[in-house]
Amino acid sequence: MDDFVYQDGQLHCEQVNLDDLVARVGTPVYVYSQRTFQQHYDRMAEAFAPIDPLICFSIKSCGNIQICKMLADRGAGMDVVSGGELYRAQKSSVAMNKVVYAGVGKTDVEIRDALAAKIGYFNIESEAEFENIATIAKQMGTTAQAALRVNPDVADPKTHAKTTTGAKETKFGVDLERAIRFFETYGHNQHLQLTAIHLHIGSPIYSAEPYVRAIKKAMILIEDLRQKGFHVTALDIGGGYAADYEKGRSPSAAGYAKDIVPLLKGFHRDGGKIILEPGRSIAGNAGVLLTRVLYLKFGGKKKFVIVDAGMSNLIRVAMYDSFHFIWPTNVVPAHVPTNRSQHMAMDGLEPCDVVGPICETGDLLAKQRPLPPVARDDLLCIFTAGAYGMVMASNYNAMPRPAEVMISGHHATIVRRRETYEDLVSTELEVQPI
Ligand SMILES: *Cc1c(COP(=O)(O)O)cnc(C)c1O
Repeated sequence: MDDFVYQDGQLHCEQVNLDDLVARVGTPVYVYSQRTFQQHYDRMAEAFAPIDPLICFSIKSCGNIQICKMLADRGAGMDVVSGGELYRAQKSSVAMNKVVYAGVGKTDVEIRDALAAKIGYFNIESEAEFENIATIAKQMGTTAQAALRVNPDVADPKTHAKTTTGAKETKFGVDLERAIRFFETYGHNQHLQLTAIHLHIGSPIYSAEPYVRAIKKAMILIEDLRQKGFHVTALDIGGGYAADYEKGRSPSAAGYAKDIVPLLKGFHRDGGKIILEPGRSIAGNAGVLLTRVLYLKFGGKKKFVIVDAGMSNLIRVAMYDSFHFIWPTNVVPAHVPTNRSQHMAMDGLEPCDVVGPICETGDLLAKQRPLPPVARDDLLCIFTAGAYGMVMASNYNAMPRPAEVMISGHHATIVRRRETYEDLVSTELEVQPI
């Protein structure tokens, strides 16, 4: 699962005691395990090794450049969705031919930067976008590769509506029926060479089954295209593999690969290249958010635990009703968690609402959650917060964004310093007439 483990009732990340760490860096703070990151990447690479994929880590799930560098060193490419993410990839020394670029609203400036960088693939979301990129490539006298993003019209019923992307009529990609027309119209363009198919069906997807359905449809499309003279040389099957938010509820990398790899063996054997874009399944369990209890409050029958982290640090609960396991970092032996689940059954637990400091009723981290007794100044750990945590943090309520710390064995490194009040206002101090 990950390297956040209790030793003698005290939560550690690898060999570092997290209470000791917080004494040095304060709260709220994101803490990452290098070992978990590497293992989750390696497991994905091993599980899919029979089809030798390019694994493009989704920067939008966790974009710290030290993390991107570490994955790039292991051979990872990157999946980017903006010019800012392309810049992060460049700062992380990622090989540019291993970068794939998706997103429905690429601007001309972003397109020029990506063309100049000679990225691997533009993942194309619409006819208008294809024409625009092709025009700019021609102006620049360059060529690029494109993958058409198709909507296979599959959706996992367990995926939140806000993160479902593979159904018909989302803003992403084009419907399957339009794909052949798309190739007929644009498949002979010299500057933007349409040679690949891209799928990304949503996130998180809790079983291999939606991928199987999507890939089967894509293979039929690739065969239809072949008969019409279009040779598809790469298939990007996207991301969306789940993280282990509750212990044992999500398939392992091997669990997904077992059903997916056989479908792609033939394509691979014929020289086809396969691309994966995992984010959450690599980053999710590799990070936690540590927060301090500020106050306890009893309202009617409810017990509120008010902490110093909220929706400005981790918005997933407010935005997607997500579950994050939360537990004190320091517990008596009877309260060492043997599981991470919504329904912890141990003596002495009390249901609590864990809420943040932000002035919004929706600013909550857990509702009616059984927790061991906690007191002011105790530390709580919000688990599986590595993906879509820090990257979605904001300055709402003028909250400085937290620090990020990377742990490796006994060593802790600040990989992003905590923001200051000066940081909050610095871009507003350069007032100038225009
Ligand atoms: C967000 C995104 C991903 C990563 O999704 P995860 O659930 O984090 O694996 C991959 N590809 C595209 C195009 C995305 O938008």
